[in-house]
Amino acid sequence: MPIVEKSLVEGLQRTETLEVEGIDVSGDWNTFIASRVHTDLDLSIVDWVRGQPQGTTIDRCWQCGTCTAGCCLHTDYGLEEFNPRYFIYLAQLGFEKELARYAQTVWRCVSCNKCVERCPKGVKVEEVVHSIGTYLELSGTAPKSPADRFDEAYTRNLLERGILDEAGLFQAFEAGEGRTLPTREKLRMGLKLLFSGRLHTGPLAKRTRGWGRLRPVLERMLAEDLAGRRRGLPSRRPPTGGP
Ligand code: SF4
Ligand code: SF4
Repeated sequence: MPIVEKSLVEGLQRTETLEVEGIDVSGDWNTFIASRVHTDLDLSIVDWVRGQPQGTTIDRCWQCGTCTAGCCLHTDYGLEEFNPRYFIYLAQLGFEKELARYAQTVWRCVSCNKCVERCPKGVKVEEVVHSIGTYLELSGTAPKSPADRFDEAYTRNLLERGILDEAGLFQAFEAGEGRTLPTREKLRMGLKLLFSGRLHTGPLAKRTRGWGRLRPVLERMLAEDLAGRRRGLPSRRPPTGGP
């Protein structure tokens, strides 16, 4: 049975304080995880990550935990659930269902690369973690992150005229997120941009010269890039594995 990160397992019953014959036996060690049999082993995720330029080093990981111990998010910022060693471990076991719980968390990585510097096995941890996140999104295992939804809104906006319509982008993104009214801070920022002449929107919107010819080229390139990233993904199915 694979060992998962006990402190992160939901619903685990802990004994906060327990004394037996004068000895404190409280803590995590005396908790149990029900035995599981992995009947639907599916290693699509590790196969896909391994096949990406950023993920080739995933198999080198020997689970020493040095990356997590030095990760600024996990240690300095107290984001306990951000655990690169654990993400790699779950991917190696094909535990997509468990990984899907961290689909948003993996994108919190700030790419400081401390993990890469410290890994004794030369794992490109930061790139591997991002590849895992990309797999979760592209395969539909987890919903898209707000950052990805923003990227999509940005691309759509830019494709319109070949120049960014900041107000249009902001409006489209916020509406997509279910926020119709801007906060005071965002309104202030918009007005600042408007009065500084940096807001290209509505009748003020410009258009890149020759955009009619350039746009199809860019669209084709983006479509090819997406098709390339999707190559090797399993067809959509319920995620496998996990406690
Ligand atoms: S430091 Fe390297 S080998 Fe150790 S757990 Fe992290 S990725 Fe794996
Ligand atoms: S690059 Fe990401 S995973 Fe690595 S130490 Fe920095 S925040 Fe942590």
